[in-house]
Amino acid sequence: MKINGFSKQIERLKDKKNAIILAHNYQRPEIQDIGDIVGDSFALAKKARETKKDVIVFCGVDFMAESAKILNPEKTVLHPNPNAKCPMAAMVDLESLKWMKEKHPDAAIVSYINTTAEIKAVSDICVTSSNAVKIIKKLEEKKIIFIPDTNLGNYVTRFIKDKQIILWPGICPTHHRIKKERILELKKIHPHAEVLVHPECNPDVIDLADYISSTQGMVRYAKTSSSKEFIIGTEKDLCHQLSINNPEKTFYPIDIAVCPNMKKITTKHVLTCLQTLKPIVELSNEIIQKASIPLERMIKFGRDD
Ligand code: 13P
Ligand code: SF4
Repeated sequence: MKINGFSKQIERLKDKKNAIILAHNYQRPEIQDIGDIVGDSFALAKKARETKKDVIVFCGVDFMAESAKILNPEKTVLHPNPNAKCPMAAMVDLESLKWMKEKHPDAAIVSYINTTAEIKAVSDICVTSSNAVKIIKKLEEKKIIFIPDTNLGNYVTRFIKDKQIILWPGICPTHHRIKKERILELKKIHPHAEVLVHPECNPDVIDLADYISSTQGMVRYAKTSSSKEFIIGTEKDLCHQLSINNPEKTFYPIDIAVCPNMKKITTKHVLTCLQTLKPIVELSNEIIQKASIPLERMIKFGRDD
């Protein structure tokens, strides 16, 4: 871990409070540097479920911190800045989802983990970008209502032909900003670079990719690939994690691919959070109990066979 600014104090308090810091790959570089675990949504959810620490400080957006609480309700889960919210998770509301389910009563509701706890509570199973194809393939239902990311849902349909997948009109504003033309421009400047993209990107961007995966999948792929250069079609600060793991390789970000919500957590917030043990993620027992069912199913179905 790099020691700078508040980092020394954070490190000391973390030990004193028996806390673990989980940080998403899109966090500011200085937050990634203080993370005990840095990863994608699936890796962080699994870690939150397993940890023996008393306190989880979740540096990510709201649905990630909520998922940590749902999977480990006995722990104190802290979200350093509750204003860090994923706008895509807010693109599905209970009333519209109920209306959709009434229209398709035989369909399973498959929720991307980027949903609120209230929506998870009425879902059959959750998925992340790292396991959506694998999990949906395993489901018995032949009809799926996939919420809320239309691009991830569309990507899944490329691999699953024996199920009807009904898409929801949600998108990630950050990935929507990544345009095919920009990837082609970068490809012209760096002709030997491989193009890695996240499945939240638009289909024409996905079509240009050499490799499509979750954020952690990209970190793993870059390590094993023989290429020395990569164009990164996702939130730009993943390049920090990619560079730490592959110091001899070069990563070209899309500069406008910034998730402003992921940047709302600063080291000052983390320090205050450890000093005060606030803000706590609070959910009702009923929501925790109901939302844990699709999340636990995701972990079970997402395991390697
Ligand atoms: P990952 O699970 O791939 O890290 O993605 C989370 C996310 O919010 C992407 O926008
Ligand atoms: Fe939500 Fe997109 Fe930000 Fe991911 S990158 S947290 S999907 S807004």
